[in-house]
Amino acid sequence: MMAAIQAAYVGAAVTVYERNDRVGRKLLSTGNGKCNFSNEIMNAGCYYGSGASFVDKIYDYFGVHETKSFFDGLGMRIKNKNGYLYPASEQAATVLDVLRYEMERLGIRSLVGCMVTEIRSGGGFVIVTDAPQGGKHLYDAVILAGGGQAAPKTGSDGSGFALARRLGHRIVMPMPALTALRCREPFFKQVAGVRCEARLTLYIDKNAADKVQGELQLTDYGISGIPVFQFSRLAAYALAEKKCVTVGIDFMPDTVKSGNFWSRRWHRQQDQQMERFVTGIVNKKIGLLLLKLAGIRETDMACEIDAARREKLESLFHSFLVTVRETNSFEQAQVCAGGVDFEEVTQDLQSRKTPGLFFAGEILDIDGICGGYNLQWAWSSGAVAGRAAAGTPLREK
Ligand SMILES: Cc1cc2nc3c(=O)[nH]c(=O)nc-3n(C[C@H](O)[C@H](O)[C@H](O)COP(=O)(O)OP(=O)(O)OC[C@H]3O[C@@H](n4cnc5c(N)ncnc54)[C@H](O)[C@@H]3O)c2cc1C
Repeated sequence: MMAAIQAAYVGAAVTVYERNDRVGRKLLSTGNGKCNFSNEIMNAGCYYGSGASFVDKIYDYFGVHETKSFFDGLGMRIKNKNGYLYPASEQAATVLDVLRYEMERLGIRSLVGCMVTEIRSGGGFVIVTDAPQGGKHLYDAVILAGGGQAAPKTGSDGSGFALARRLGHRIVMPMPALTALRCREPFFKQVAGVRCEARLTLYIDKNAADKVQGELQLTDYGISGIPVFQFSRLAAYALAEKKCVTVGIDFMPDTVKSGNFWSRRWHRQQDQQMERFVTGIVNKKIGLLLLKLAGIRETDMACEIDAARREKLESLFHSFLVTVRETNSFEQAQVCAGGVDFEEVTQDLQSRKTPGLFFAGEILDIDGICGGYNLQWAWSSGAVAGRAAAGTPLREK
């Protein structure tokens, strides 16, 4: 939609092909229905994939400032929650509405219910669809913005990758990202539903690969929540390479294990049963689970616990290790990592294999962390590809 609008701004006649019965359906589920459409803190460090090194340049052409001005110009008030940007209405539908209205105003043709099955190139482009209303028209340029494979119910089923492949492009292996991790340990059912602040360290083959703090969610199959989402793509690629993926959980990120918290607690609560000893440290379900894993009974007295089991219990609170079996599937993932390799596209997001073909959004090999980064990429890459495809590339600010 952004690509279509930007191309139309500079005079191009634009047609959007959409397989769903309406455009932009995925937008409605973003940000828990509120659409976190961008973020004030924006840099290449928030992105992964071969496109991460393109981010600064693309955002020089069309970045957060231009995105805010664009939506402001469409009449959408913006709410800034600690740098995270939302429509002031707190309705993702607002973002979709203003884009749809602008497309209508510009006379952009939307052919919905049209699954693109082939793009023929050679002296212009012909789009082949599975629907009679798709027709057969000749276009000067095509922007492939079919998304990745995440949340396929919203329309992005990976068919864009197949179209790109047929036009000569290499696709970096698609992987679910911003998703939960399924773990091997049998005890998750006991702590399912617990949400708590924690510091997580992702280990790949025992080497620390990432560290994130935030609200951890424990589920009956493993770990979820924003901190887990942030490194899930690293876990996904490591698992695909058959590497060992573990996550260390510090349930007490604000307390140093070697500080005096534990010595004071053992001293003060020496005449307490261990169920009471663990009460009040963190969520009780976690406390009771860790007791069990340390080989301590709830009815044992604190003063009876030997040094080895004390040390074991303290260590479990600070570095509880779980083993990742797999990530959740594309169905539950918010984003698809991998995609069209940036080695084969220009700075204007034009194909080096098929001139006149452009790419925008998640179909490219780039994925951002949680917090508005993926939609900002969609806006920025859409604007850059849209203007370039219409023959009037955006200039650096
Ligand atoms: C639950 C959820 C929550 C999210 N929340 C946020 C958030 O708050 N902030 C954020 O920044 N990002 C969020 N994201 C990620 C963000 O929505 C995506 O990165 C973004 O929508 C990608 O835009 P896109 O245009 O590249 O692809 P998409 O939005 O996937 O759009 C691609 C479109 O192409 C159509 N299409 C695909 N193949 C064909 C074909 N062969 N023929 C015709 N049409 C086709 C699809 O039907 C679809 O409408 C979230 C994602 C999900 C699933």
